[in-house]
Amino acid sequence: MNTFSDAQLVVSQDVAALLDDLDGGRPRRWTDDEREALDVLEAHGFIVGDRDGERRRLEEYFASVREDRDQLRVTVLTTLQCNFACDYCYQGDHGDYNTTAAKMSMDTAARIARWVEAKLDEVSPRTFHLTFFGGEPLLNQPVMFYLAERLWQATQARGVGMVVNLITNGLLLTPDVIDRLKPVGLGGVKITLDGDRDTHDRMRPLRGGQGTFDRIVENIRRVADRCAISIGGNFDASSVDSYPALLDFLVEQEFSKAITKVSFKPVIKAPEPAAPKGLIPLTAVGADGRPLGATCMTSAGSSTGACDTCHFVDEKMAFLRDETRKRGFPTLDGVHMGPCEIHRRHAYTIGPDGSLYACPGFTGQYALSTGHIDGREEARHRTAAARFERLAAWKECQDCAFIPVCAGGCTTAAHAELGDLNRPSCHKVSFEAGVRSLAVQAASAS
Ligand code: SF4
Ligand code: SF4
Repeated sequence: MNTFSDAQLVVSQDVAALLDDLDGGRPRRWTDDEREALDVLEAHGFIVGDRDGERRRLEEYFASVREDRDQLRVTVLTTLQCNFACDYCYQGDHGDYNTTAAKMSMDTAARIARWVEAKLDEVSPRTFHLTFFGGEPLLNQPVMFYLAERLWQATQARGVGMVVNLITNGLLLTPDVIDRLKPVGLGGVKITLDGDRDTHDRMRPLRGGQGTFDRIVENIRRVADRCAISIGGNFDASSVDSYPALLDFLVEQEFSKAITKVSFKPVIKAPEPAAPKGLIPLTAVGADGRPLGATCMTSAGSSTGACDTCHFVDEKMAFLRDETRKRGFPTLDGVHMGPCEIHRRHAYTIGPDGSLYACPGFTGQYALSTGHIDGREEARHRTAAARFERLAAWKECQDCAFIPVCAGGCTTAAHAELGDLNRPSCHKVSFEAGVRSLAVQAASAS
């Protein structure tokens, strides 16, 4: 597999041996057949004649990703409040969190709409992608509907396509919500289920400890004929083994055909010694042990894939991908992961107060806010924007074959765990497992 061009070849043992010879740098005289095979491999980019040229092409590729104007992507956090008391999250209905957590006002929403309209004129994208996220975005529905409807008018007037995505815990999801968003470009709803019924109810209860699984599933049932449903889940050492049972449950539901994607990722927790016993050691998310900038754990760090750190988790993710695929649900293949949106200039995350961030993983970390929708430019904004502008952790990755799809890994994880935005946060084991799995599928198919 060539991760740059996505060319894929199933080759015979002798071609594999030839590649090993090349890899080992054992120069010898090639036979005519070998020469022919090498020419085919070179034509498809599996071997390159010139490392410097390949490096230049990588630079050009990342520059083109950064400047791409095909899409304008905006993630809006309508609130940081949440109606759940998830076991692994500092947000939500714990203590007095919701009395202090930010909630977007209508006035800020109006200013965001104006800011997006100006961006649409500046960027002239083919499509505008608007994602609602939180906290729990359905706790601030007036702002959500206002933004979706006004920006639909704005895109229609400019001949730009618009796709709305909603990431929700599912508790307040109703047919009315879908019916209101559908005419303004609703593409899909992502809902989190953390394992089978008992496990989910333990991981994602209401404040009083009541389970939420049955109600969420009932809500999915009621909306499944109206929109595409994507299921996400956050696992830790105590819950990972319950996911096959969740998959079995989902496959039996009449709404299973409406499920367009299933993908699971590890819970992100504070590092040892702060993490309670029994948790998988996961990505550190801040010196104070708080989650990724107060963004909901449901999605932070996962817009494209893996933000975990250890091989055990990499293996568990490969296991859950296989289990998901076995039951016929579409899922991530573990290879085609990025580059994620932090590498795109025209992808923005906007917090409840109108602050701008490079990606959802940095929301709420004011020192790393890159600006504000009202155009104010403080020194800290300029400093942060310059840091994100220079991002190129992949330059540390030498000859790694996964650079085009990984770009050096999750920047949020690198910042939190390694204290440096520009160091790779490496999940090569996970990518290799993904390639192996793709290879097995291709070999079986052929
Ligand atoms: S840097 Fe990490 S959290 Fe941010 S968009 Fe990329 S993968 Fe997601
Ligand atoms: S972070 Fe690891 S897998 Fe990603 S490009 Fe760098 S070396 Fe490769």
